[in-house]
Amino acid sequence: MRIEEELKLDFKDVLFRPKRSTLGSRAKVELKRGYAYRHSGRHSETVPIIAANMDTVGTFEMAAALADHHMHVALHKHYRVEDYVTFFNDNNHPVHQYAFYSLGITDADIEKFRMVKNATGNAIEFVCIDVANGYTETFIDFVKRFREAYPKTTIMAGNVVTADVTEALILAGADIVKVGIGPGSVCTTRKMTGVGYPQLSAIIECADAAHGLGGFICGDGGCTVPGDVAKAFGGGADFVMLGGMLAAHDESGGEIVHEHGKTYRKFYGMSSDLAMEMYSGGVAKYRASEGKVVTLEARGPVDYTVQEILGGLRSTCTYVGARTLKALSKCTTFVRVTQQINEVYGRAS
Ligand code: 5GP
Repeated sequence: MRIEEELKLDFKDVLFRPKRSTLGSRAKVELKRGYAYRHSGRHSETVPIIAANMDTVGTFEMAAALADHHMHVALHKHYRVEDYVTFFNDNNHPVHQYAFYSLGITDADIEKFRMVKNATGNAIEFVCIDVANGYTETFIDFVKRFREAYPKTTIMAGNVVTADVTEALILAGADIVKVGIGPGSVCTTRKMTGVGYPQLSAIIECADAAHGLGGFICGDGGCTVPGDVAKAFGGGADFVMLGGMLAAHDESGGEIVHEHGKTYRKFYGMSSDLAMEMYSGGVAKYRASEGKVVTLEARGPVDYTVQEILGGLRSTCTYVGARTLKALSKCTTFVRVTQQINEVYGRAS
């Protein structure tokens, strides 16, 4: 047994230190960022926030709403083949250019991907190869084989939280490595397994490793307010994936519940009892659920929330003198804190 003594940080442990800036207005901040992908050779220019591939977040409806803001969606993997085909073949809408097709690493996942791909030509630009534990050799081999089979597809793969496997995944063919084990709002991995890594430090360390190899990272999970999204970018994340912050909107999916005159929506982890019952016929005997089920008050159209997140990001950039989102991490100095928010009147909603 060994203990690493170096302190690792979460979003709650830091604040941005403000800096003198010549930026006149937050309206001048450019949130769109250009990317050149190491393996696929493709380029993209987007606002690099990705709705999580959960069936209560990463829906076709969310894809349409976020595309208006040049933001991404990682589609959840439980639609029918014909539904993906219709979505990716819809040439009248530019929506699918921002969409990630998500898959796991089972034979059924790859077979389903092949069917969709065969029916949609080159319409799928991005895939998200997603497993809870990105540390297995089987996973890294899968990424390698996928890269060989689809050289021009931009691959995001994860999840991991350390530099060594970030590098291994990029060398295996990933363009973007997805970072986060245990920080998610409906995740119980840390409770059930004791495994994890503070998310801000994971982002900082994995970004450093990825950037050295010409790769990118996506910070996945743990953002609860717009300031956390800014801290993820400030720490070096090239993309940030959001679940809970985009849940319970009109576009999010999730069962609607009416109670005491109010409307709620179900939101749950993809490894929760509920998700496993829906998609895998129950929780297998050898495993435990690693996700929560929560009921959230319905939040209406996602547009307002997006405006808050993007407005918050622009404001962060003006506080630290970053003209573009890309420059944010270079302009970032974090100060360690023991308190974040004055809660004398409760936590502002
Ligand atoms: P959030 O933005 O809600 O904090 O985190 C979203 C992320 O949580 C997802 O992108 C995914 O990586 C992770 N996640 C989703 N469902 C589950 C689950 O059931 N268990 C675990 N461990 N993580 C989950």
